[in-house]
Amino acid sequence: MNSLRLLLVSSPVGLLGSGLTGGIELTLRNIAGELAGRGHHITIVAPQGSTGWGMPLVEIAGTLQSSAQTQGRDAPIIIPASSVLANMWDYVRQVQGEYDLILNFAYDWLPFYLTPFLRRPVAHLVSMGSLTDAMDEIIEKVAIEFPGTIGVHSQAQAKTFTFADCCRWLGNGIDLSDYDFCLEPESWVGWVGRIAPEKGLEDAVAASKLTGVPLKIMGVLQDKGYWQKILWDYPDAPIGYQGFFSTAELQKRLGQCRALLMTPRWVEAFGNVAIEALACGVPVIAYCNGGPAEIVEDGKTGFLVEPNSIGGLIDAMGKLDEIDRYTCRQRVAAMYSNTAMGDRMEQWFNDILSRNLEKGSRE
Ligand code: UDP
Repeated sequence: MNSLRLLLVSSPVGLLGSGLTGGIELTLRNIAGELAGRGHHITIVAPQGSTGWGMPLVEIAGTLQSSAQTQGRDAPIIIPASSVLANMWDYVRQVQGEYDLILNFAYDWLPFYLTPFLRRPVAHLVSMGSLTDAMDEIIEKVAIEFPGTIGVHSQAQAKTFTFADCCRWLGNGIDLSDYDFCLEPESWVGWVGRIAPEKGLEDAVAASKLTGVPLKIMGVLQDKGYWQKILWDYPDAPIGYQGFFSTAELQKRLGQCRALLMTPRWVEAFGNVAIEALACGVPVIAYCNGGPAEIVEDGKTGFLVEPNSIGGLIDAMGKLDEIDRYTCRQRVAAMYSNTAMGDRMEQWFNDILSRNLEKGSRE
């Protein structure tokens, strides 16, 4: 494929490096790194103070956006004064002529709304399922007007939208060399993610308390009130909060776990932590819902449990000896390597650009 000039526009809810953009951070870093390695020219646009991991980064000042997952279905679109989102997209408007394609990582109304106003094609990598009516409406409009430009991480995520058939499945990918394989785990299980209500940490804590199996918790403390309530509700559970780690540190700790528990309350669009755990050889016990249900093969690379069933989690924890840790890593190598993801991304961009060319020649 010819070398492309790609402008990657990050989420406005947090700085890259802070953990507050959730999985977007790792996804963006891996996509940028893989595509740069293939000879494409990458520039990242992100809120001021972000890290660009050594890649060209344009930092934009402004007020951060609040996260979409904390709002109700009828939530209106709110844009604060001096919005970093508006500033980032004003920058995109100014420099678009220097790029072949713009890749949007923000789950926000404005980039979708602006798509028809821009001269360059925009590929939208949608990071969450349906959350608000206003977002559904604007994404659907773009899906219809610009076919093929809405990318999703799982079929389950796509199905939360009425326009599921217009979404392009991309999965996700990680660099396996960033994750060491660990054959001999310790006695504990792990839970990794943003500590926030939609992630359902309390179910993993309940399973740890009932089995006596220690639970190590890693991730950004996004909702401190929620975390305090868990400590209050389960004062004697054998749990420990370890902190928020870089990928290098996270994978060391992840590898030691007998299993990773994933207990989300929402439809998890993908769940990067599932492929990170599997890459280390760690089986994943997940509620049978959303992205994890497409990643984990029940009985082979972990167990899929009825959603919200603590009994189900406990049963699965008792069967972990049945899982071969090598098979877990192989699953990632086959489906979710950076190479596999890079191929899917290039194909996606290629399709968007060819369609755009055709459209241009018709006009
Ligand atoms: N993560 C991290 N350090 C930690 C815990 C988590 O960097 O200590 C990252 C992890 O690598 C993953 C992200 O946080 O990329 C969580 O993403 P996921 O897709 O699982 O959930 P999201 O937060 O997007 O809902």
